[in-house]
Amino acid sequence: MTDQGLTPYDPSAVEAKWEARWEKRGTNHTDLEGAKRPFYNLMMFPYPSAEGLHVGNVFAFVGADIHGRFRRLQGDDVFEPMGFDAFGIHSENYALKIGVHPAELIPRNIERFRQQLKRMGLMIDWRRQLSTTDPAYYKWTQWIFLQLHKAGLAVRKRAAVNWCPACKTVLANEQVINGFCERHPDVKVEQRVLDQWFFTITRYTEQLLGNLERLDWSASTRLLQTNWIGRSEGAELAFETPGGQRVTVFTTRPDTVFGATYLVLAPEHPLVTTVTTAEQRADVNAYRRNVEKTDLVSRKVGDKERSGVFTGAYTRNPATGGSIPVWIADYVLMEYGTGAIMGVPGHDARDFDFATRMQLPIVRVVAGPGQDAATPLAAAEPDIPDGRLVNSPGFDGMPWREAARGVTSALEGKGLGKAVVNYRLHDWCVSRQRYWGPPIPIIYCDACGTVPVPEQDLPVILPVVTDTRPDDSGVSPLARHEEWYRVPCPTCGKMGRRETDVSDTFLDSSWYFLRYPSVGLDGVPFDAALTKKWLPVTSYIGGNEHAVLHLMYARFITMALKDLGHVGFEEPFPRFRAHGTIVKDGAKMSKSRGNVVVPDRYVEQWGADTFRMYLMFLGPYQEGGDFRDAGISGIRRFLDKVWHLVVDLEAGTASRLGEAPGQPARDPADLLRMKHRTTEKVTKDTAALDYNTAIAAMMEYVNALREGTPTRELVEPLVVMLAPYAPHFAEECWERLGHPASVMDTSWPVFDSKLALAEEVQVVVQVNGKVRARLRLPRGTAENEAVAAAKADAGVRRFIDGHALKKVVFVPDRLVNIVI
Ligand SMILES: [Zn+2]
Ligand SMILES: [Zn+2]
Repeated sequence: MTDQGLTPYDPSAVEAKWEARWEKRGTNHTDLEGAKRPFYNLMMFPYPSAEGLHVGNVFAFVGADIHGRFRRLQGDDVFEPMGFDAFGIHSENYALKIGVHPAELIPRNIERFRQQLKRMGLMIDWRRQLSTTDPAYYKWTQWIFLQLHKAGLAVRKRAAVNWCPACKTVLANEQVINGFCERHPDVKVEQRVLDQWFFTITRYTEQLLGNLERLDWSASTRLLQTNWIGRSEGAELAFETPGGQRVTVFTTRPDTVFGATYLVLAPEHPLVTTVTTAEQRADVNAYRRNVEKTDLVSRKVGDKERSGVFTGAYTRNPATGGSIPVWIADYVLMEYGTGAIMGVPGHDARDFDFATRMQLPIVRVVAGPGQDAATPLAAAEPDIPDGRLVNSPGFDGMPWREAARGVTSALEGKGLGKAVVNYRLHDWCVSRQRYWGPPIPIIYCDACGTVPVPEQDLPVILPVVTDTRPDDSGVSPLARHEEWYRVPCPTCGKMGRRETDVSDTFLDSSWYFLRYPSVGLDGVPFDAALTKKWLPVTSYIGGNEHAVLHLMYARFITMALKDLGHVGFEEPFPRFRAHGTIVKDGAKMSKSRGNVVVPDRYVEQWGADTFRMYLMFLGPYQEGGDFRDAGISGIRRFLDKVWHLVVDLEAGTASRLGEAPGQPARDPADLLRMKHRTTEKVTKDTAALDYNTAIAAMMEYVNALREGTPTRELVEPLVVMLAPYAPHFAEECWERLGHPASVMDTSWPVFDSKLALAEEVQVVVQVNGKVRARLRLPRGTAENEAVAAAKADAGVRRFIDGHALKKVVFVPDRLVNIVI
């Protein structure tokens, strides 16, 4: 070995040196005004938890940082900002738990996060750091609320909402997971009827859905949004009661109306009181009271036992004209469709369960090949391919799709139906009965009603009060602070009172990307020229856990701001990539399992660069991987090898490192071809976020260099390609190779595809595992020909002549190993 006596690779010294130097030189600063090729590299900002940076955060940020650094080396002016999503229940609950005021706790957490993020070597321009809790920021969050209010997109209405008894606040539908609070997996969410502020995101449903097609997004993210928006085509059909009341139902299968043997109303449906008969009233009322205790989301979940009560009333099936009973059941929700459904037990699994339990008639109205009108139904048959109608006078024999249109227009002719499109997406409930958020900028006046706070009076500062604990009353803790909420009405001057609810944290994060380039500007939320230059965001990388929350809300807010003339584009993130998740030894990381990987320990032991590369080497970045401690030393060995190549060049002692003297060396022409091939692969893979295979290619290249003579021309491009992955390490190597400027200010190496695709390849011939020859063979040479060429080589013959060949190992275009 030739590296004895030369400086060994010491990650902590190298990383501390370059962290300090980047800061001093402003290496990570972006000239926002002067940039020629703006590239806005956005990553999802974290909420600064007390536990510190999670390894999942590090995985996400490093992958995004590699992308940003790669683009910078490609000649773009990359802007990579970072901030903190520091309002919200996560932070507040923790503050309550440990008894520290969030206004005191959060700045501490932010500082800790900042230090950890800096330690990871991210290319962040810290001059643009923001926190959503900063009045200079939430002034504009409130301003956005006012703009939406002015446009009629922020409305107050009384509605059934999800209430978490542990959080003591309402939750958006998106924050309820199978009936449980997303923050309290063991607390069932209840339903409450409260006055709440809503953003009418549903006005943008078609735009949110339609635009998805042209966005360059990960397919998984697009699909999640599409499903959440939940467009379904169908018909509204009218069922009439003998008393002349009309109940409208929405169905995606109007062709099955002949099989509707009962009607179900949501327990909250306004007609329930009117239609219920005297005999059934007590049962109906008892059932309705019971349902009030259940949350909206678990009522939607399909796997529970059906319950319901007969109202005593009957209605007419608009297709058959027959009389069918009217029930109420909790599986029908007022919030979805019309709050009423027709029960078609023959062709809907939920209805089949219900009808079986309540002993209601079940009729087949669609028959597949080999079935007829009399074929019995052992279970619901919802989707019969090639199904045709039966038991449906006037439509018998017709394919069901055609019949769906036919039945709708027939009923339309009688004034009993019309074709409609329905959506699952509902308006966004933005008010929270909590302390830790931006106060909603509204004042209530007995004389003037609901009065927006005048824009010049923003921000409405969140007062620092000691009593921040939420209670079960359904109003915010701020309602207990009269000295804060009593204010003169801006319109008439009489005493009014402030809205005491704060806004959802997802409003804070719905526009943060607009603010970054304008951080520090007081007079505007986002400067027009900077916004025009830097937005929409060039590349956004984040997790799919935000596919239906943050990403949907940010799109909506941007569309609204566009329509109100504040920005010039309607889609904030034309390109989005979802990263994968990492698990630990095959299991999801969680506090309860005790298997959460704390990054600090690894960074301390191995250095940030090794840790970065190890995370990226776990698997494809967009799929994730399994964190097993075993692999990290392999990355370190790789960096050590590169280090030796560099210090040897630096000392002028460059020579072959990988093998004992006397063995035939790698052909320089072969190494040159390999340089082009490696550069091509690393370039393409890095661009595609396939970081693990790019790293593998660099490893292979380093091993080859060690078998030949690693010249500066061969090593320097490798150092540049390593810069996105191991930035401190690459800077140090670059400097040692004699370059005074940052490696980030050089250019990404170019490759020649023709050279990379050599006609000939070098095949190593080993005898019993020792290299005895290197042959130049046409690419793709078959095994028998390669073995014959090996056996004919004089250097090989010396070792095999006179021996029986036990076995031959052949790796195409790479290796022939002869075992004697
Ligand atoms: Zn909760
Ligand atoms: Zn007034």
